[in-house]
Order: sequence, then C-alpha cells, then structure tokens
Amino acid sequence: MFEQGAIRPPNEAGSLLVRVTRNCPWNRCHICPPFKGLKFSKRSVAEVKADIDQMAVLYGSRGRAPVSAFLQDADSLVVPTDELLDIIGHIRLRFPSVRRVTTYARAKTMKGKSVEDLGRLREAGLARIHSGMESGSAEVLELIRKGNTPDDILAGGLHVVSSGISLSEYIMPGVGGRRLSREHALETAAILNRIRPDYIRVRTLAIHPLSPLERMTREGAFEPMTDVEIVAEIRLLLESLDEMPTHFRCGDFSLNLLMQVDGRLDRDKGAMLAEIDRFLALDPGRQKAFALIQRSCPGLIPLEVAEDDRVMEEVGREVQRLEALEPDGFNRAIRGLMTHQLPSLPGSAWPGQTPPDRAISGD
Ligand code: SF4
Repeated sequence: MFEQGAIRPPNEAGSLLVRVTRNCPWNRCHICPPFKGLKFSKRSVAEVKADIDQMAVLYGSRGRAPVSAFLQDADSLVVPTDELLDIIGHIRLRFPSVRRVTTYARAKTMKGKSVEDLGRLREAGLARIHSGMESGSAEVLELIRKGNTPDDILAGGLHVVSSGISLSEYIMPGVGGRRLSREHALETAAILNRIRPDYIRVRTLAIHPLSPLERMTREGAFEPMTDVEIVAEIRLLLESLDEMPTHFRCGDFSLNLLMQVDGRLDRDKGAMLAEIDRFLALDPGRQKAFALIQRSCPGLIPLEVAEDDRVMEEVGREVQRLEALEPDGFNRAIRGLMTHQLPSLPGSAWPGQTPPDRAISGD
C-alpha cells in the first residue's frame, strides 16, 4: 500500500495526499504536537512514484478522479526542485484530473528556494504553499522555538508571492501570551502588509497539556490569555492590516472563538471589525457564557446566541460553577476544553518534557 502522513490543511480534505517526506525537519516548535518524537526522513522519488501508481489503481477502481493533490508532510520544499518537478509530473501523468498541487513549507525553506525554481514549480502545477508563520515578532518566534526569524518569514513569503504561487500564511493569536500580545499583533500585521499573501488563516493557540508551554504556564513564565483578550488581540491585528486583496480567515478553524470573522481585507475589513466589536461590547458574563458554548460545541456560533436572555441565564449558572471550582477556574476549564481539539501526540510524552503528574507531584 501507499503511505500517508498525519496532517493536511482543512481545505485539502478531498485532495490526493502524496507523502514526499516523513514528519518535520525542524520539529522543535512548542505549539505543534503531531510529529513530536518522530524522525524526519526524505523519501526517494522512486518510492513516491510507486505510491502514486498504487493510488492511481485504487482511485481508478473506485471511479474517483481527484482535482487536487497535497504534498505531505510538514516541509516538502526541502526536496530538491528537480525531484519535486519529477513527482508533480508523475501526479499529473497518472491523475490527469488534478488541476492544483499544494504543499506546506517553512519560511526558511521558502527563502532557500530561488524565485526561478519556485516559478518552475508553479509552471509544473504547484499552485499554493501553506506556511505556518505564527507571528511576526522575533521575541514570540523565539519563545515558541519556531526556528524562523521575521526576516526569514518576509524573505520566504516574498519569494513565493514573486513566483506567482498562491501563499497562505497561518498566524496564531494568543501565542505571545499576555506580555507579548500587543507586539505580536502589530509586528505580525507589519510583515503581512509587506508580503501581501493571498490568505491569512487564523489559528488561535490551544496549549497541549504535555507541551513546554503548559510547563511554562505552571511555572509562571507564560501567561495564557483569556478568550476576550485574544479577541481583542485579533482586533488589533485586523485593524493594523492594510485593505489588500487578502482573505482573512477565521472560519476554517473551530478553535477561533468568532469563526464568523471571515472575509477579504479590501472588501470586508469594516464588517469583520464590527463583528468583533459587537462581541467586545457584551457584558463580561455574556462573553464568558458565549465562550463556554463555543468551546463546548466548537463551530460557528452566531452572536445572537449571546443576546438570548434565557440561554445566557442557563449557561451563566455553569460559568459561575466553574469560576467557584478553583482560582481562575473558568479560564482553566476553557483551556481544558480547547485541548480536546488538538491533534494527539504520536508518543506518550513531548520530547524533553517532564509529564505534568510528576512535575506537580510536590504541590
Ligand atoms: S509548527 Fe511546523 S515547523 Fe514547527 S514543528 Fe510543527 S510542523 Fe514543524
């Protein structure tokens, strides 16, 4: 049979998944569980082509003709350009229905590919690159061990945009914690205004219980933000972004509290800010009740729910109960609910971390 990796962007659910490398060549970010403890390796072109052949047989037997393909895993551009061209050519040979090939790539790797090489990949069919920028702040990037500087992000992003490949940048509200929130919002917006990607995809931070960020939270070195603070951070980011033809997307990720904040910056920025302001204008009790509903039933919850007195009264009682459980009880409960949406760790521990039960055994 053929190999498939653990992750893909949400909009690639129907794509042919072609694994060109295994896992992540960096794999040190504090925010990202799916590859922890797994070793990176590059697959040979022959191996990948054999997978594509097997997929062609399987898809053919089922009468399926995919229109898009996604190259896995975390950073396919580490593969030499000629090899990628060979693989993309083989996908298109065995799947003539495929119109669009996309992949993930790290900023440093995008920076390392010349605009000419990226242009050759575009001509072969590489239509979009998804990249986890997370932040434009050097301090935040260091805090989460992203392994990229703001200069890497800018140069890598500009390479992709100049080559004509569509670019989707992922950013992570909350990831600087309370201390770096403002800097995170402003510096992220400043870099995005220079790159002008086609998509800015919002991925609100949830802290994995075994991750270094969880340990730093216990030790007081990282201060997680509340939902309301994160919404205010997103407002500052959005307000600071230029009105450019870029999609600002909260709607494709259910850890974003306000999934309805979704539109194009040159057309919908005012409406998106207005929706955020509508949430921020609610009284604190309603904001918490709304957050508890959304965190319990992740999805797009219209703000009208927070204006329904009967619902708010009922959920408000649960908010009070959680608040009384322990110091910061409500926010802890919300953070706990959010972790259920994270991908699980491949192993039983995050490399280099002491499991929390041992870490807090003296409390
Ligand atoms: S966030 Fe990206 S670069 Fe960082 S470990 Fe995860 S896959 Fe690798």
